[in-house]
Amino acid sequence: MQQRNEGNIQGIDVSRYQGKIDWLQVKADKREFVFIKATEGQTYTDPKFAANVKGALSAGLLVGTYHFLRATSAEVAKAEAAHYAKSLEAVGGVKALQLPPVMDYENNPGGISKAQINIVAKAFLTELERLTGVKPIIYTGNSFAGNFDTGLSGYDLWIARYSNTKVPDDQPAWKTWDIWQYSDSGKVPGITGSVDLNEFNGSLADLKKRYGKEQDMSNPFDGYRITSPFGMRKHPVSGVNKFHRGVDLVVSPADGPIYAFVAGEVMHAKMGVSGSGFGNYGIVVAIKDDKGYLHVYAHLSAAGVKVGQQVKRGQLIGKQGSTGISSGAHLHYEVRKACTPQYGYTTTEAGVVEPTQYLINYYGLKPNKEDKPVTVRDINLVSAWAEASWKEAQANGYFDGSRPGAPITREESAIVINRLRRNFLALIAGVNGDVKDLDERLQKIEAEG
Ligand SMILES: [Zn+2]
Repeated sequence: MQQRNEGNIQGIDVSRYQGKIDWLQVKADKREFVFIKATEGQTYTDPKFAANVKGALSAGLLVGTYHFLRATSAEVAKAEAAHYAKSLEAVGGVKALQLPPVMDYENNPGGISKAQINIVAKAFLTELERLTGVKPIIYTGNSFAGNFDTGLSGYDLWIARYSNTKVPDDQPAWKTWDIWQYSDSGKVPGITGSVDLNEFNGSLADLKKRYGKEQDMSNPFDGYRITSPFGMRKHPVSGVNKFHRGVDLVVSPADGPIYAFVAGEVMHAKMGVSGSGFGNYGIVVAIKDDKGYLHVYAHLSAAGVKVGQQVKRGQLIGKQGSTGISSGAHLHYEVRKACTPQYGYTTTEAGVVEPTQYLINYYGLKPNKEDKPVTVRDINLVSAWAEASWKEAQANGYFDGSRPGAPITREESAIVINRLRRNFLALIAGVNGDVKDLDERLQKIEAEG
């Protein structure tokens, strides 16, 4: 099989034997993925399973799990698959994780034949895929791999061979490895004692592409629950009616990873000091984008970046939390028009923009997008009529901007006013009157201002 490669990414696999793990340290050591022991046989669940999954996810690692197979018959193999699938529900199921489930089949306690080994393996794999909807990976050792026939070639191979000099041997079912466990005595910051080291055959992007789900950017907040929109609302803590300067988003778990919505330069990455523009915001990471807007990620439990650092869109920047004045773990995300003074803070809503629309526009400005000819009036160009109506509506306080989620647009106000206009024309014209004639006369008056 192939050698290790410098461009490949590194990961680990753990069980209760690693004890308590500091996952942020593991991630900082460039361990991008982890397989966590879930179950064994028909009844055993690793006591650290759920805690390890939660910790690894919250630090932003790509997470998978594995089941240690003991079965010697197809029937027991299926029962083991059911036990594994059931245990996965405790962490939200296989689909809540980034990496597929794994069959760890590495010894032959019952002394069964090669043919029977393949029957047991296939029974487990088929049943597990049926129950979880995800095609599993096979984990095995360099010598035990020789038992598997070409009927299993279609499964990805995670193979163990602890050597600095010898690559895993070619096998009947596989000539390449997808993941190589090359050491069982690794030292990784955040873990006491030894840990298994693994290498994936490719880059982080390759790993995500192979197993990951596509990010749907049509909704910038995919994966989040929006708990409070931008605009007027009753403040959840003070109870006072107040303008909400951003959106509140919730990701699970409570200290789940927060990724940058846009690329840019980190301007702030610590507890917000009173009077700085971030007082009561808790731990804030603020990132300046290429248009000079400041993206504020507030109430974090930890910042994962440093001031001056350039971050990419989608990069891990911290962990969700409830620092500052906050009614529970959530991300308050706001977009400010400026970065100075006071990090662009303004006492009124003048200094912020509606974040969802800002991101949609921002992402839409990618250069590969062709400019379509405008066939109807460009809604970003205000008609004189809409502009005048909007001014009047604002001046008279007809619209207070309290509709959840977004301010009223000029176009919406124009539509409402136009509807009223039609109704009044009909009223004046009476039952048998000529609305068309009245409309023409009114248009003349409007044109004259
Ligand atoms: Zn908020």
